[in-house]
Amino acid sequence: MNIHEYQGKQLLKGYGLPVADGVAITSADEAEAAAASLPGPLYVVKSQIHAGGRGKGRFKELGADAKGGVRLAKSPAEAAANAREMLGNTLVTAQTGPQGKQVNRLYIEDGADIDRELYLSLLVDRETGRVAFVASTEGGMDIEAVAHDTPEKIVTLSIDPETGVTPTDVAALNSALKLDGAAAQDGEFIFPTLYRAFVEKDMSMLEINPLIVMTNGRIRVLDAKVSFDGNAMFRHPELEGLRDKTEEDAKEIEASEWDLAYVALDGNIGCMVNGAGLAMATMDIIKLYGAEPANFCDVGGGASKEKVAAAFKIITQDPAVKGILVNIFGGIMRCDIIAEGVVAAVKEVGLQVPLVVRLEGTNAELGKQILNQSGLNITAADDLDDAAQKIVKAVG
Ligand code: GDP
Ligand code: MG
Repeated sequence: MNIHEYQGKQLLKGYGLPVADGVAITSADEAEAAAASLPGPLYVVKSQIHAGGRGKGRFKELGADAKGGVRLAKSPAEAAANAREMLGNTLVTAQTGPQGKQVNRLYIEDGADIDRELYLSLLVDRETGRVAFVASTEGGMDIEAVAHDTPEKIVTLSIDPETGVTPTDVAALNSALKLDGAAAQDGEFIFPTLYRAFVEKDMSMLEINPLIVMTNGRIRVLDAKVSFDGNAMFRHPELEGLRDKTEEDAKEIEASEWDLAYVALDGNIGCMVNGAGLAMATMDIIKLYGAEPANFCDVGGGASKEKVAAAFKIITQDPAVKGILVNIFGGIMRCDIIAEGVVAAVKEVGLQVPLVVRLEGTNAELGKQILNQSGLNITAADDLDDAAQKIVKAVG
């Protein structure tokens, strides 16, 4: 689960971490008073969307020379003028895709005088099985470009879960970020505290880009991108209120309500599968035959007829879907149940696009019979290869 920058900063502030004062607003009328409540003299107006690259992003509705999604203002009136221009418009950044994201909320923040912009993130390093810090002096910009062009400028440090962040780790991070004096002292508090927040809140990612050294020599968290591990949300009822469903794909929300794993992709073949491995194999073979998956919906091991029907409806809701491939291995889940679910769903929502079904495993023959006798325009395939070729051909 992702949250907005202003929410992430509130959370970090609760840990005593250095973030600026700020006010989140949803209407431009609130902007001037919000800014006036801050110390000034510099104000920052920040678009709150679940995507990064806002500063370099551009609003679809404004001209190419209009300013981006993060703007500096020298007075509350100027902050308000920016807020009026930004709210309700669509911000396109390197992370939103070309359709962009509508900006429904702004964060008006007290501006900082920046000396240096650094990069710091925490993530779960699957190779070491530990939480790792990723640090670089090259912050504020596109960290992917830094990783690509000058990988030696990125330092990764994994933390021993037995000890947490040790003084040696702090020294290594201070050195990686070239911090000294007051900034290095700030580091002694900031690094262990970020680690504690990450672990206590079951985060999967905490990215601070940039972490800044201010002209007064102190450190501040200037941007915060926080994601929580969805599988740990049951332990954190306190975080549920931070969820902003308007930022999530409606189909993914519906899928999670049915306990289905749905992932939207860019192609035109919708895929219903059971199991992540089979999902990957299905996508691979679709690509092998020259087409691209539009999504996959994993109905899991023991789905009911209703769950299969729900999955089918979710897949057909996507207008990009020009054909559907159902690829199920019936082990725990019986093929006749899948077939009944598919037939019921097709009868309910209608079928506007070709549907190829490949069933294998328990009661596979019975499943095929149900499909063939349904009187519906469903193609039963013999095996995965056959199924992939048929659906790719059908979508042209
Ligand atoms: P992002 O573009 O979505 O990553 O948004 P950021 O919060 O990282 O802001 C983008 C850039 O705006 C930063 O890298 C800074 O250069 C600039 N910026 C943001 N806040 C301030 C501030 O308080 N003072 C100054 N001088 N610049 C800021
Ligand atoms: Mg940033």
